Amino acid sequence: MPFAAMLSPAMSLSTAMSGLRRRRHGRRGLALWLVLALGVGLGCLITPAAAQDGDDAGAPEGSADATAPDAPPVLAPLSWPLPPTALAVEPAKRLFGAAPAPAMGKREAIGFYSNGCLSGGLPMASNGPGWQRVRLDRNRHWGTAALIHYLRRLAGDSRRLGRNGILIGDLSQPRGGPMLTGHASHQTGLDVDIWYDDMPATRLTKEMRETIPATSLLKPGTRDLDETKATDSLARLLRRAASDPTVERVFVNPAVKRWLCRWPYAGIGEERKWLRKIRPYWGHDDHFHVRLACPPGMASCHAQAPPPPGDGCGGQLDWWATDEPWDPAKQEPPKPPLLLADMPAACRALVEP
Ligand SMILES: [Zn+2]
Repeated sequence: MPFAAMLSPAMSLSTAMSGLRRRRHGRRGLALWLVLALGVGLGCLITPAAAQDGDDAGAPEGSADATAPDAPPVLAPLSWPLPPTALAVEPAKRLFGAAPAPAMGKREAIGFYSNGCLSGGLPMASNGPGWQRVRLDRNRHWGTAALIHYLRRLAGDSRRLGRNGILIGDLSQPRGGPMLTGHASHQTGLDVDIWYDDMPATRLTKEMRETIPATSLLKPGTRDLDETKATDSLARLLRRAASDPTVERVFVNPAVKRWLCRWPYAGIGEERKWLRKIRPYWGHDDHFHVRLACPPGMASCHAQAPPPPGDGCGGQLDWWATDEPWDPAKQEPPKPPLLLADMPAACRALVEP
């Protein structure tokens, strides 16, 4: 098994390298917190893949994630229904991570992408016309109806764009909320990770879905695009993904954004407005992350400020070409894990015994 796959099936080596900057601090912060708050010493093995992925630290963006959601949980999962004492003391990720099934009731995305939850979550099927899901064991295939419908549209469109289909990674947990491993966002049923790899023409086995690695678009060990992987059909897929009116942002690696900016078919003038939604962010070299806007009628859903005007190309990418974003010394300190008390009040009802 390649090193990258051992490290994390959904994370390539280059992703791991590019993400180390934030992860080193995130790991240390997490470990310290666990030891202090829980007083447990049960082999606090926190693997590299237990990455705290990007919230907005240091970035000109709102929260996205930076892949790597593959590590096993650090602690044994809590039992469900939760013991009432857990609600006040456990980090929210342990609470929401324990929920095996969605909360019935109003279908709603509650709160913000990186601090919220999901009521009435709907499942994304494992297979369908133009899609296959991977990493099924994680139980992170839950979303709002808007997200499920979006994925079905994009999967169908991908075939018309010369691809076999899309490989779909994580959506949200059954009740959304923070996760024990990986993503800082994906909490409200409005975020999804999609691999850059084309879907294989054949049906993947259950085992393959857990183990096949996502392919990085970067040259190994660099921050540069591997041009041989930058195909027109992939660029068309990304344009399609961003052009859907329900989409708020699509997070990609800065090298991918740079490529799309100079893609000959990106358009001119108004035609380039899809590029505004394509946002550069750490990681995201082996998958892109689609974030939908709050669906109409969901009063509890907190919207994100729109991206800056323009296509986000040219000078807006200069910062990413410097060493600053990649300098471990310029890392913001980690945030403590969310507690239920920090979350929207409506989220409590979703985990209360
Ligand atoms: Zn994501």
